[in-house]
Amino acid sequence: MEAVALSAVPPPASQSASARRARRASFGFLVPRNRSDVRTVIWGWLLLPSVPILGLSFPRLAPWLLPLALYTSYCSAVLTHNHVHARVFRSRLDNDLYGMLLSVFWGSPIAFWLPTHVEHHHRYVDGPEEATRTRRRSPNHNLWQAVLYTFSCVVWEWPLLVEYVKRVRSRRSRAWANLRNQFLAVLFAHTGAMAVAIALYGPGRGLLTYALVLGLPSTLAPLFMLFTNYLQHVHCDPSSPDNHSRNFISPALNWLLFNNGYHTVHHDRPSAHWTQYQALHKQRAPSIHPSLMVHSMQTFCVTSYLLGPFFPRFRTRSLLKTT
Ligand SMILES: [Zn+2]
Repeated sequence: MEAVALSAVPPPASQSASARRARRASFGFLVPRNRSDVRTVIWGWLLLPSVPILGLSFPRLAPWLLPLALYTSYCSAVLTHNHVHARVFRSRLDNDLYGMLLSVFWGSPIAFWLPTHVEHHHRYVDGPEEATRTRRRSPNHNLWQAVLYTFSCVVWEWPLLVEYVKRVRSRRSRAWANLRNQFLAVLFAHTGAMAVAIALYGPGRGLLTYALVLGLPSTLAPLFMLFTNYLQHVHCDPSSPDNHSRNFISPALNWLLFNNGYHTVHHDRPSAHWTQYQALHKQRAPSIHPSLMVHSMQTFCVTSYLLGPFFPRFRTRSLLKTT
């Protein structure tokens, strides 16, 4: 009786209003858990689809859209990385739909990040047990090894993916439903875009337009991530708590890539929100080897792969003592 009496007492006006606001927000459509993810929503639901929509509407624009298509392709992987570590939305339905959307632009079900990245890479951090460790093919670091590594990872990750699919399929769990829905989203979106392009512009021009605005960018997205993983760990020391990762610290690059350049702190706290990484990196920087603080991936590629073959001072030196 006492409980009934207590529940009948109305809460203070301000408390009930804020509670109502919070309740409304939690059931709204595309409401992010973190306010800064309004930018994630704009990138994910507007910028990424804008490339195929514009390209299929105005096929003459397709070649000119290629730089933006490559950026959004890279972003599809960055946004996926953020999402698999820290869910973007409050509602489960929004998260599931967002997973399907990202899968279309990443070219495969984003659930594949769970066995390869979340459960594997973050567990072994480029150590001897990691299937995609950067020294697996060679202790040397040059452009040829970077390219070989990127394509070899597709083969090295395959057993992890097969095992994951078998595991979730046998349980018929929510993970299986997500994987299946993401696969169907990729299939329908790509065949649909291809069919629309061919219907509007004929087989030759239609297929070329589809390839430029969706097919090629989504094929490159996983390769971009594997190549980035190489840049982030090659010639680092996986046995060191401080020097296992390379950081790309350009403010402009980190704005464009949602702070994904700060890799040491990402391994320290994988589920931290991307907006926290700059401050976390500032605290962590004094303990990290100075050679692992690089301006940007672009400068690293130019110095390591274009200048390094001719000028030894531009080559990286492994911090791992045993190599
Ligand atoms: Zn990660």
